Amino acid sequence: MFLGSGSAFTVGADNFQSNMLLINEQNQKLLIDCGTDIRLSLYAVGLSYLDITDIYISHQHSDHIGGLEYIAFSSLFDPRCNKPNLYLSKDIASDLWDRSLSGGLRSIDGDITSLESYFQVNKIENNGHFDWGGLQLNLVKVVHVNNGYFLMPSYGLFFEANGIKVFLSTDTKFCFNYIGEFYERADIIFHDCETSHYQTPVHAGYKELVTLPARIKNKMWLYGYQPGALPDAKQDGFRGFVKRGQTFEFSPQNLD
Ligand SMILES: [Zn+2]
Repeated sequence: MFLGSGSAFTVGADNFQSNMLLINEQNQKLLIDCGTDIRLSLYAVGLSYLDITDIYISHQHSDHIGGLEYIAFSSLFDPRCNKPNLYLSKDIASDLWDRSLSGGLRSIDGDITSLESYFQVNKIENNGHFDWGGLQLNLVKVVHVNNGYFLMPSYGLFFEANGIKVFLSTDTKFCFNYIGEFYERADIIFHDCETSHYQTPVHAGYKELVTLPARIKNKMWLYGYQPGALPDAKQDGFRGFVKRGQTFEFSPQNLD
């Protein structure tokens, strides 16, 4: 379920940041990224922090982590909650606390805290995976930002559910050479897609994605787009743009 399908800077109630819930047959939920919108996007589908027991973080931009303070404080001080499980690549874990979350979360009344005070932290090794809800979720390192000194990655996900292979790009530049093998292997692809007139170099743009081979576009859904008019993605060979609230059921009969 896409709680939102917009970009980081989506405004208004028409859409939210691209955070998703992966829900299994036992109705367990894995929140994939937790942006600044998360209170509102959960509320819009009748959920709250009470429903968030497991969180995956792909990288440190605020549309992916900006809602963690809400989840952390709300869960810590609500006796109904256990510590949520937090799954993230090992390289992101220390930076997440030191460079982002500690500013707001480090001090509580009478104590100094750490990331582990709020979350059951599961650090994932390089090229590793984690197991959740009967699924094996494999991290796929993608190139998001090149600051000229080093590359800032994001970690997409590749998993198989009911025999359906799913690739979720999270935030990535367009680089077919780097992640093309995952496009080929997947049965269904969810890809971030910038639709702005002022294309940035840190996301795949529609004009770039449209150059992909038909066999790949034919299994690709687009999300993370800007507000405003959208191109006719179906006409251009894609499955379409994901709408806020849209759900996808991973079973063979629902692929077409
Ligand atoms: Zn990002």
